[in-house]
Amino acid sequence: MVQDTKHILQGNAKVLKADVSRYAVYGVVIAFGAIFIATLLLSHYETGSVSLSGAIAVQKSNVALWILDAMPFVFALWGQYVGSMIAYEASALVIDQTNELRAQATALRKEAAHGVTHDTLTGLPNRTLVMDRLNQAIAAAHEKDQMLSVILIDLDRFSELNNALSRHQGDQALNQVAARLRGLARDTDTVGRVGADEFVLIVSRTSTSELDSHRIAASIVEALKTPFLLDGVKVDIQASMGITVFPTHGGDADSLLQRAEVAMYAAKRDKTGFAVYNKKHEKNNPRKITLAGELRESLESGVLYLQYQPKMTLNNMTLEGVEALLRWPHPEHTLISPAEFIPLAERTGLIRPVTSWVIDQSLEQLSRWGKKGFFPSVSINISAQDLNNEELFDHLTGLLASYGIDPNRIVLEITETSIMLNEEHATNMLRRLSDIGVRISIDDFGTGYSSLAHLSELPIYEIKIDRSFVQDMDTNPKHAKIVRAIIDLGHNLGLNVIAEGVSKREIKDELQTMRCDAIQGFYLSVPISPEEIPNWLKQNKVRLPYLPVDVYSENEKKRSIV
Ligand code: C2E
Ligand code: MG
Ligand code: MG
Repeated sequence: MVQDTKHILQGNAKVLKADVSRYAVYGVVIAFGAIFIATLLLSHYETGSVSLSGAIAVQKSNVALWILDAMPFVFALWGQYVGSMIAYEASALVIDQTNELRAQATALRKEAAHGVTHDTLTGLPNRTLVMDRLNQAIAAAHEKDQMLSVILIDLDRFSELNNALSRHQGDQALNQVAARLRGLARDTDTVGRVGADEFVLIVSRTSTSELDSHRIAASIVEALKTPFLLDGVKVDIQASMGITVFPTHGGDADSLLQRAEVAMYAAKRDKTGFAVYNKKHEKNNPRKITLAGELRESLESGVLYLQYQPKMTLNNMTLEGVEALLRWPHPEHTLISPAEFIPLAERTGLIRPVTSWVIDQSLEQLSRWGKKGFFPSVSINISAQDLNNEELFDHLTGLLASYGIDPNRIVLEITETSIMLNEEHATNMLRRLSDIGVRISIDDFGTGYSSLAHLSELPIYEIKIDRSFVQDMDTNPKHAKIVRAIIDLGHNLGLNVIAEGVSKREIKDELQTMRCDAIQGFYLSVPISPEEIPNWLKQNKVRLPYLPVDVYSENEKKRSIV
């Protein structure tokens, strides 16, 4: 490198010097010209004529001419010297600048290469590099007969959070998650970002396959537990994780990552935080199901149906009502959970006809039950997009009128984030619905990001505590505290509070002491067909609520089935 620079320097100096020398030669020629003219003038001045002998005489006798004669040589030498110096300096300058430009170009090239392999927001390796590292890790593990784990981490409801907060806060959240994950990884592990809210952790040299992965997944859950501070706002972010182990669950990068995704969806659906891949998860793999078109077909061909899950009051064990839950028997995948296909319907805009169908069916069912003297209220789940659908209001009120059903028997369940997503329309629509007597329930309460101040201004009748807090409140004191706080909060705001996901007597008892108003869950009943509801009521000797005389005839009430 030093040799190279010296070479270039000498070469450049030569070129520049040649240029400078040319001008020095012009200078010398001009100087000689000046001597020639001066000699002739002096000879004329001293001898009175211009002759060669006169010129020789003045050249011999005049000291000033001697000095002038020396000038071309002095200037030629000086010119050569200065020229060389300038040429060297200029060349050095050019080389310095070239080196700087070269360094800049290298940095830019490096940056561009980094951009190809890294995520610009978090600086983590992107999918390309993750796949590359995973392939290398697999090769190394294979050679040394070791195991490795792939943990796919997907943030829960991140798109909702992102919509509810500012863009900057969303970016902050992703950066902070990335930092926490990086903090957990060892030097030999890779943390990467492979999707908008999807991260991957490749853990090399896992010793005992699943045990190790469980430990790591548990530490990720733990690391995310501390609330995130986004521009001064405290936000809880949870994640669902899918885990695969090499070579148990796959021998190449693609299948390990794909199966980790399948396991992640299972964890998300079951709200278990993380799941190690299991073949059983495959049948619910949303990747495999190209559902959108099929869902539309199923809706049109009438294969969708509703099940109903009872809700009971806790103070006098009376039927509070039933919740309509949509079911889709898919020919290949048996039953697909609505937790999977409803988001799909929301994404494809199919949710409007789906909700409309659910409303049709539930009201028709109410009317059918009414004819048998059974008048429960029904809860219907609606999505964010339904709230800006003007037709929904007309559709519902039209049906209520034509079946003669009291709007008070309709409860619309909506998640807090759905309201936040569409605040203005949502508030408007909820007010209109509540004005005609329809009751509004906030579903999955505790998992969203709503502002309580805002919620208290909405015409809400009920909050429904999310089952993730309820289902383990007998063993998880933190969750029990959250449930108690939500119950107190609801009561302070004058709301009815119901707990969903009650699966054991102990939980029901605890909720009773916490003065929760109502419960729903497998402890009472799993969702069942409408035909089974009357039997269930009989078998469980469930009391029916008081019904206003002016709405239903005495005859209808006498025919009551319980
Ligand atoms: P959700 O409205 O919170 O409904 C309660 C879910 O919890 C139901 O799941 C129910 O089967 C389940 N569940 C009830 N008790 C227990 C229990 O004790 N333990 C456990 N582990 N689970 C219990 P499902 O039917 O799979 O529905 C999932 C979600 O899909 C619903 O959650 C709701 O958000 C959505 N969904 C269902 N039907 C509809 C619909 O017609 N329209 C819309 N927009 N969403 C729907
Ligand atoms: Mg619900
Ligand atoms: Mg719920």
